[in-house]
Amino acid sequence: MTRSAIVIGAGVIGVASAYALAQRGWKVILVDRHKQAAMGTSHANGAQLSYCFTDALGSPSTMAALPRLLAGRGCVRIRPGFSPDYLRWLASFARNCTASRFRENTLAVLNLALESRAAMDALCQRHSPDFSHAKADKIQLLYSDADRERAEASIAIKSESGCEQSIVERAGFAQIDPALSDLDEAVSAVIFTRSEMVGDARLFCENMLPILASEYGATISLGCEVQRIETTRTSTRILLTDGDMLEADHVVLCGGCDSNRLLRPLGLSVPVQPMKGYSFEMPPTEASPKVSVTDAKRRLVITNLGGRIRVAGFADLGNASPKLEADRVEALKNAAMSCLPGAGDYSQTERHWAGLRPTTPRSHPIISRPRPGIAINTGHGALGWTLAMGSGERLAALLD
Ligand SMILES: Cc1cc2nc3c(=O)[nH]c(=O)nc-3n(C[C@H](O)[C@H](O)[C@H](O)COP(=O)(O)OP(=O)(O)OC[C@H]3O[C@@H](n4cnc5c(N)ncnc54)[C@H](O)[C@@H]3O)c2cc1C
Repeated sequence: MTRSAIVIGAGVIGVASAYALAQRGWKVILVDRHKQAAMGTSHANGAQLSYCFTDALGSPSTMAALPRLLAGRGCVRIRPGFSPDYLRWLASFARNCTASRFRENTLAVLNLALESRAAMDALCQRHSPDFSHAKADKIQLLYSDADRERAEASIAIKSESGCEQSIVERAGFAQIDPALSDLDEAVSAVIFTRSEMVGDARLFCENMLPILASEYGATISLGCEVQRIETTRTSTRILLTDGDMLEADHVVLCGGCDSNRLLRPLGLSVPVQPMKGYSFEMPPTEASPKVSVTDAKRRLVITNLGGRIRVAGFADLGNASPKLEADRVEALKNAAMSCLPGAGDYSQTERHWAGLRPTTPRSHPIISRPRPGIAINTGHGALGWTLAMGSGERLAALLD
């Protein structure tokens, strides 16, 4: 008998889950409140598929920086808050800042990232959707001896799983990409990785919908807000705000930061907090980099996405407002300029955007079936685009 699933959320996680289920023969209905796909956090992220940069957010160095982060002046801000969920989340995050948890969490994310790379390769071979998918070497900037020590430890942890990364000194930057001679002079070395990719998450979601519909018979229901999920003994149904009801064997919730709104009435919840970030685009210059750049000190990435330069970054934990804060975008622009002044034409920035990363204390997602008929795939934080395809596969395997 054909099994059926309603997938809530047409961001990268919902689209990847719908694809993985449809491929296994499930009858899929994909629902989103917006009239287009990827109107949430998947809209204009950093566009990097960083299969080897999977370091967990919680680490001893994050813990050491906590007083500065709580002061809230830099590119990372921790908003004070007293809701029990938020306090529980912070306590759990603090418990994940030990060296052993950092190692464990980083490796768990790395395994999922490597599964994601394989699943993305298979999808592209089968369907070739257009989403500016391209190979791009990646660098992460190192400023100090302490940065270098942490980088060496992280490279060693991940090399066991087959990630090939190396440290390149400043004298070798021009060989990686001539544009890097323009980098902030305080950068002494970089972590260099060849195996990474870039791709536009919004285009991926948009262009996967017709494939899901025509090749797999999926129903795409955009502009449909889910008000409630209900379970019966034999099926699960969703009630839409327009009064319509849809029924299936399973409901798969991929609602990002909004997931708890639908879970709470069922007596369920996930430890997910919003970590707000921002992005903008600009035209390239002759000095624009081809490689993807990560500046962890300024908490930003610079990506050459099909000829446009996208800058994304900053991390405001506990800020759940989707509003675009102009001062934060301006600060992101200034930070990017001091990192790599020639990255693009900063006088013509556009497509300013803000999004909420659905973040868990362990930095890895929740892929679970908390009760019959209900499955969850969320909490992908800063790496949801990278982890989407593998997460879809794991979710589908769980339901199979
Ligand atoms: C600034 C920034 C830069 C980033 N850069 C990168 C990067 O370079 N690489 C990387 O791997 N990741 C990156 N990320 C993270 C990545 O974008 C997210 O992890 C990912 O987009 C999360 O996808 P999602 O599908 O879970 O959530 P979303 O994209 O938010 O999708 C959830 C969907 O659920 C729908 N929904 C929710 N509730 C309902 C309801 N009741 N009824 C109907 N629909 C509902 C929403 O409308 C939404 O479309 C970045 C994030 C940010 C903010």
